[in-house]
Amino acid sequence: MSDFADIAAEREQELREDALADFRRRYCPDDVNAPDNLVPCTCMDCDEPIPEGRRLALPGIATCVPCQKRRENDQKNRERR
Ligand SMILES: [Zn+2]
Repeated sequence: MSDFADIAAEREQELREDALADFRRRYCPDDVNAPDNLVPCTCMDCDEPIPEGRRLALPGIATCVPCQKRRENDQKNRERR
């Protein structure tokens, strides 16, 4: 019985560490201008680096310009339907 709980707990820890590693990779811990230092370095959609100027102008922005445009278009298409 307890084996299942152990395995589940182990698995959960692994998943959490993966998520944390991904989080650290994506965000710039040394960006002092960011609120709580949580400014994404790379685009959430295509993993391209987001230019610093864009990150500073739009705090919390998580996508590069082309992906942002694509998202906006997607949303417009959805609203039209
Ligand atoms: Zn992108």
